[in-house]
Amino acid sequence: MKEIIPPAPPAITRNDSAAVRQLFKDNVVPSYGRFDLVLSHGLGGYVWDVAGKRYLDMGGGIAVCSLGHAHPAITDALVEQSRKLVHVSNLYYHEPQGRLAQALVRLIGPGKCFFSNSGAEANEGLYKVARKFGHEEGRFEILTAVNSFHGRTLAGIAATGQDKVKKGFEPLMPGFRHVPYNDLEAMRQAISPATAAILIEGVQGEGGVTPAQPEYLLGLRKLCDEKRLLLFMDGVQCGYFRTGRFQSFQRILENTPGGASFLPDGVSMAKSLGGGFPMGAFWVRQPYADLLGPGTHASTFGGTPLGCAVALKVLEVVTRERLADNAREQGEYLAAELRGLAREYPSVLRGVRGLGLMLGLELAPDIAAFKDASGSASLQFVHRLHAEGMLAIPAGTHVIRLLPPLNLSRLDAEEALRIIENVVSRLAT
Ligand SMILES: *Cc1c(COP(=O)(O)O)cnc(C)c1O
Repeated sequence: MKEIIPPAPPAITRNDSAAVRQLFKDNVVPSYGRFDLVLSHGLGGYVWDVAGKRYLDMGGGIAVCSLGHAHPAITDALVEQSRKLVHVSNLYYHEPQGRLAQALVRLIGPGKCFFSNSGAEANEGLYKVARKFGHEEGRFEILTAVNSFHGRTLAGIAATGQDKVKKGFEPLMPGFRHVPYNDLEAMRQAISPATAAILIEGVQGEGGVTPAQPEYLLGLRKLCDEKRLLLFMDGVQCGYFRTGRFQSFQRILENTPGGASFLPDGVSMAKSLGGGFPMGAFWVRQPYADLLGPGTHASTFGGTPLGCAVALKVLEVVTRERLADNAREQGEYLAAELRGLAREYPSVLRGVRGLGLMLGLELAPDIAAFKDASGSASLQFVHRLHAEGMLAIPAGTHVIRLLPPLNLSRLDAEEALRIIENVVSRLAT
């Protein structure tokens, strides 16, 4: 008699994804609009979800994972430094903080640094520098740009030039006003006797990837000198070599007459600085570097030996592997190819903006396939990228941001282009 082999039972697979999402639903404040992805691990330019699906990470954790995921140099720095000192407080000196400050000063210009744990906090430090600077004369106001983004603390939402971050949290902290970006005359008009400083992003990020014009930066510098105002630049997202130079203003002004001597009075940093380790900093130029004297500003966790050792290691890798040049090269390649796609599919892609590896893909206003579904065009586009195995970040309703690791390889860039073309070509038909 023929032996009967019973069919194999279906594999038992736990639905880890649903379980994790339930944990969030029950226990985590729902302040974020999260995508339906539960990520498990990463390596280099890729992350995997708990079901084993692989994604090319072109969002880089919102411009944070400067060396990609699970970089051995970061692991080594974390392990080595944590064997020595993780934290001591800022009551004492330690070498990593001093050396990191020195490195940042060398990259920007003569001045000093203060370390925080985030971008919003780095900006808070600059607001305090401005307040201290203007205090004797009763000046306190800081002018920022329409569509800017400076963080989600109370001062951060007051500084941010977008109504959606302020709504429901009034009364807002006084002392901030917003002026159209890249409009020097509007800025000149907005200055009042109470104005102490101007704060802008070199490339607006959350606002949709808009670079400052070289003449705007030079004009702001002149205006600030003329009116005795501090000029601050928020380099939290556009800084850290992303545009091809350490700070975006260095890139924007590199071929502009008079650009080489441009220096703002303060620069905030965070995101890529720790390569994923939470870390922020601000740099402030002489003669303002000593305005915040002993007892005027502090952060318990700011500039820990562990954070600074990691940041120093990230900087070492970026320098050794010439990742600023890589960001410029891969960014120019991506931008050129994406512009080609936009010419080929004008019904889907309107254009490409940005510098280096900070790129914004602008979607056409009425993509037919998006008409009946819910959610903004940028969200729906990102969902389709996810389905194809790529992460990217929406900005506003019609821009897709690419903020990949600075060590993005040509192969990864080519894969990103293939995936984007797949999504775009299907939307066009
Ligand atoms: C992300 C961001 C911030 C806020 O940084 P957090 O670390 O989230 O506080 C501030 N400014 C800009 C330009 C940013 O992109």
